[in-house]
Amino acid sequence: MPELPEVETTRRGIAPHVEGREIVEVIVRQPRLRLPVPNDLVERLVGARIGGLSRRAKYLLVPVQAEDAASASLLWHLGMSGSLRIARLGELPKKHDHVDLVLDDGAILRYHDPRRFGFVDWLQGDAARDPRLARLGPEPLSEAFDGERLHALSRGRRLAVKPFLMDNAVVVGVGNIYAAEALFLAGIDPRRAAGRISLARYRRLAAAVREVLAAAITQGGTTLRDFVGGTGEPGYFAQRLNVYGRDGAPCRRCGAELRLVILGQRASVFCAACQR
Ligand SMILES: [Zn+2]
Repeated sequence: MPELPEVETTRRGIAPHVEGREIVEVIVRQPRLRLPVPNDLVERLVGARIGGLSRRAKYLLVPVQAEDAASASLLWHLGMSGSLRIARLGELPKKHDHVDLVLDDGAILRYHDPRRFGFVDWLQGDAARDPRLARLGPEPLSEAFDGERLHALSRGRRLAVKPFLMDNAVVVGVGNIYAAEALFLAGIDPRRAAGRISLARYRRLAAAVREVLAAAITQGGTTLRDFVGGTGEPGYFAQRLNVYGRDGAPCRRCGAELRLVILGQRASVFCAACQR
């Protein structure tokens, strides 16, 4: 599933190919995504120019400016299995290639999504005020996210720290993989009540969150060339993981057998010896 690092890697990978370009044709082969592709998308987009791409949580924001029109954006979500890549003119679509934006230099921004849990929606006006974005917590790699925030928001809460960390109102984009890995690096038991963790430990946890996400983005950066050309699935990368998906395997730090618990309906692997 595309997590924040994959969405950020996608943004960086496609941005140089689409920014400043005019959209000359829009092809929708399958409009039934998680949200239906808006009926008027083709009409609105043809002739519009693409601005600077940004990302908020796992949403990709593609500003589009038509002549004499108010500011608007495409809000793109990759869902469970979506990906965006740059195809060349004449490169035939494969199965599950649902949407093409054909650009004025012949490149095609092509959306692929076998499970169709992703979507592309039209967003008029200031994107930050869209209800889907307005209530989100800070970005994990921004200055607004730190141990002080985690400590302050968790006081009095008996919720386990792992689902607390995965709450989008606390901080966005810390999915199951990165929550598990960050808690391991910080030496914090994922079952511990969020309200019972000290400020010093939350500072370590915030640093660990930044570390795992930044490493994933850096690693994704080495696969940027996969966003262009005929290589198929772009941008997802296997990271060396310490705990996620390794239940029953030995801890890389102490050798103890990693354990699995279910927290907030999500599988959580941890080392009972290293994480307290
Ligand atoms: Zn261990």
